[in-house]
Amino acid sequence: MLFKEIIGNNSLKKQLIEAVRNNRISHAQLFSGKSGSAKLALALAYAQFLNCENRSAVDSCGICSSCLKFNNLSHPDLHLVIPVLKTKEVQKPVSDHFIGQWRNFIINNYYGSLNGWIDSFGTENKSGQQGAIYKDEANNIHKKLSLKNYEAEYRVVLIWMPERMNLEVSNKLLKLFEEPPKGTIFLLVTENATRLLPTIISRLQTIKIADFTSEDIVNHFGDKVLSLEKAKQLRNLTNADLGKITQILEDKEGELDLFTDFSVWMRLTYKMDVQGISKWVDNLSLRGRKQQNLFLSYAIKMVRECLIYNFASNTLLKTNENEFAFLTKFSPFIHEENSVMITEKLEESIRAINRNANAKILFFELSLQMVKFLRLKRKFAIK
Ligand SMILES: [Zn+2]
Repeated sequence: MLFKEIIGNNSLKKQLIEAVRNNRISHAQLFSGKSGSAKLALALAYAQFLNCENRSAVDSCGICSSCLKFNNLSHPDLHLVIPVLKTKEVQKPVSDHFIGQWRNFIINNYYGSLNGWIDSFGTENKSGQQGAIYKDEANNIHKKLSLKNYEAEYRVVLIWMPERMNLEVSNKLLKLFEEPPKGTIFLLVTENATRLLPTIISRLQTIKIADFTSEDIVNHFGDKVLSLEKAKQLRNLTNADLGKITQILEDKEGELDLFTDFSVWMRLTYKMDVQGISKWVDNLSLRGRKQQNLFLSYAIKMVRECLIYNFASNTLLKTNENEFAFLTKFSPFIHEENSVMITEKLEESIRAINRNANAKILFFELSLQMVKFLRLKRKFAIK
C-alpha cells in the first residue's frame, strides 16, 4: 500500500512520513478509527514505507523487493494477527490458520470491517461467533519474536482489531508492547479503542484516523463513478464506511431505491394492508443478505431522522428532497417510545439476517410488529 493510494488524511500521512524520515519511530502505535476508515491502509503504508529500499521524500517506491512483498501482505517480517473463529476443522485457532483467507479479504477491500471479516466465514460460523484473538496467539507471537528478523530492518507485528484479545492475551503481550525486541514494532489497528485495556492504551502511541469526507469518497472512486450528492447519501447511510460503500457499489446495491422500499413499507404497515405487505415481503426476500441488511440500516436511519425532525432543528437532518417530503408526513407517527422499540427490532433483525434467518418469516413478522409500533400512541404530547 502506497500513501498516495489512500485518499484524505493528508496531515496524518505527512506526520507518519516525517516520523520515519527523522527516525522518530515509535515501537508501539495504535491506529484508531471507525469501521471503514483508513486505519489499516495507513498502518500498512507506514509499515511498507519503513522498510522500502528506495523510498522518496513522500512515499515508498512501490517496486523494490520489500515493497512488492508488502504489497501482497506476504513479507516474511510482516506478522499479521487477526480475530479468528473456531470451525469444524480448527478447534484451537490462531491467525496463521486463516491468514490466507484474510489476505484475500483485505486485498479485495482494504476498508473491510471486522463484521465483514466474520461474515466472510458464512455458514462455517454456525454458532454466531464474533471472532477472537485466543491465548495461543500470544504464545505464537512470543515464539516468532524470539527469532531474528528475516530480512527487514523493521519487523512489523500488525494486530488487526486488538479489541478482540481477551484479558489473558492482553496481559501476555503487555511487556512486549513496552519493550519489543530490537527492530520490532507493533502496529495495532482498532475500530473500538474503548474496549482496549487502559494498561494497553497507556503503552501505545495513539494515532486517530479521521472519517472520510464526502469529497474523499468521490476522489476515491472518481467522479465518473460517483457524484458528490450520491457520495453524501452513501456516507450518511454507512456512517462514512468506505468498505461498505465499496461493497454497495460493487454489488450495484447503490442502484436500489431504498427510499421507495421504505416509504412503501411504511404506507402498507400503516394501512395494515396484509396482502400488500405479503407481496412486499416476497420481493425483499428474493434479494441477498447484504441488500436486506442495507435496507434495515436505512430504516434505522429514517427512524432517527424522524426523531430529529420532531425534536431538533431541521439543519441536523441528513435527508434529500424526497426523504424530507416523506418525513414531514410520516414523523408524527414516530415518537420517543416507539422509536426505541422499532430501532431495537430492526437491529435484532440485522443480527438475525446475519445468522441466516429465514428472510420471508423475518420480514413478515417484522412488518406485523411495525403495524403495532406505528399504532402506539405517545403518552405525552410534543411540540
Ligand atoms: Zn520500495
